[in-house]
This record gives sequence, structure tokens and C-alpha cells, in this order.
Amino acid sequence: MADRSRFGPAGVPPSFRVMKAALADVPRLLREEGLDAFEYQAVRWGAKPQMKKEDAEKLGFKAKENDVWLSLHGSYFINFCGGKDVIEASKQRLISCATAAEWMNASIVVFHPGFYCKKQQREAFTNCLEALKEIVEAMKTLGIKNVKIGPETMGKPSQLGSLDEILGFCEEVEQIQPVIDWAHLHARDKGRFKTVDDFHKVVEDIENRLGTEAVKNMHCHFTKVEFTDKGEKCHHTMEEVDYGPDFAMLAKVIVEFKLKPVIISESPILDVDAIKMRDILHKEFKML
Ligand SMILES: [Zn+2]
Repeated sequence: MADRSRFGPAGVPPSFRVMKAALADVPRLLREEGLDAFEYQAVRWGAKPQMKKEDAEKLGFKAKENDVWLSLHGSYFINFCGGKDVIEASKQRLISCATAAEWMNASIVVFHPGFYCKKQQREAFTNCLEALKEIVEAMKTLGIKNVKIGPETMGKPSQLGSLDEILGFCEEVEQIQPVIDWAHLHARDKGRFKTVDDFHKVVEDIENRLGTEAVKNMHCHFTKVEFTDKGEKCHHTMEEVDYGPDFAMLAKVIVEFKLKPVIISESPILDVDAIKMRDILHKEFKML
């Protein structure tokens, strides 16, 4: 559980890459920017962790030293709506991500549940739920105790991952925590966040179904997003006024409900916009 609202980038910021920073330097560089969260991107991983245990542990150590909250974005090659073989391979990939997350002491492994494809929504949900139960059991056997599994709300109506489905997984299995990607919810429902009240409704829905602790400790992704009839198209920066959702509205709800979410910036300019969001929230607190 995060001790306060925290902000950080999804992956290593471009400016850190320019200065050829090592992974272990990332937490210090984030702290120097006044950021305090980092989502490591394991998005191309297969059945085995694609980093050495010692490197993961070093990142974890440096994160702790610099008071940076770690999470890990799991493999994109996961689809719990596919055939038996696909589901089996997806389980291995998610477990490999969870293994590395445990090494680095990350709090949560974020993942995309998959595309419905030919399956009915109910069948896809049930298949995914069964797989998640097995994964959580396997994690217990492997001694992975500190990592939560985080299914993410998805940005296209063709993807498993409506808010209702994500909360449904969390109701059924302990050790599963929702990942609220606000841009995805916005895109999936063709621009649902127009007023502060639209944000309220989501927060209340989470609280009603999962309880106050769950909503207070939300793990979130935030960026501005462009969408079509098919949902999410691409991400935009905070500067681009033509696109939503508006972080200032979410900030009001965070203050009102006394939430302490971890907010990961998925903007094209990752850390720069994470700083902007942090400042918007701080300003909102000062106005109390
Ligand atoms: Zn994601």
C-alpha cells in the first residue's frame, strides 16, 4: 500500500536514455526530479525473466534507497481469451514477470487480459478468471508472496478489460488488484470523462465493489488519449488541449476521497507529464 499519492513514468524516460543512465541509476534520477514511482517495462518478455536476478535486486535496492515505488508492466504477449496453448503460454509469461517483480520488490505486475476474438464476453471472462486463480496458486508454491497481479482496464471494446470485468476479477481472487487506466476507460467509452462527476462514478464503483482500502490504494495509468469508434488510437501530452481526460478533474476526486494512488504517466513525454500531474495534485491540496 502506497503511503501517499505517488507519480512516476512507464519505463525509462527518454532524457535518461540520452545520458546513457544505467537501470540502477533510474530511481536516483527520478528522485532528483521529485518523482517517486517507476513502472519497469517487461512488455516483450516470454516464459523466463529477461533480466538477471541480481540486476532486479539492485533496481529494488536503489528504488528503496531513493524512496521510489516500483511496479512492473508485464508482457504484451499474454492472451487469456485464446485457445488452451495460448492460455498456458500466457500463464508462464505472467508468472515469469511476477518472479522478477518479486526479485525487485515491485508491488504489482500489470497485464492486459487479451482480446475476446471469437469468444463471448462471458466465456472470455471465465477463462481468464480460471487462469488467474491458477497463477495465484502457482505463485504461492513458488514463494512469490509480495506481488499483486494487476489486470488493466483496456482501451478497446474488442479487449477483455471493461471496468466491470476488471473489478469482477478482483472480487473473485485475492492477490488481484485493479489497474485503472483512465485513458483506456475514456477511449473505450468514447470520451466518458467530461466532468468531475464522471470520475466520481468510477471511484464510487470501485469502492462499492472492492472496499475503501482498494480504492484508496489504486494503481493507475494516466495520459491524454485519442480514440476512434474502435477505441484507443494514440497517446498525447498534457499540453494538448484537444484531448482528454483532464487530470485536474481526477485530482479533485483524489483530494475529496483522500485517495493515495500510484499514478504512472504513459504520456509520450513520460516523466515530464508525471511532474505536471504531481504539481496539479499538489495545487489542489493547497486550495483546501
Ligand atoms: Zn498497459
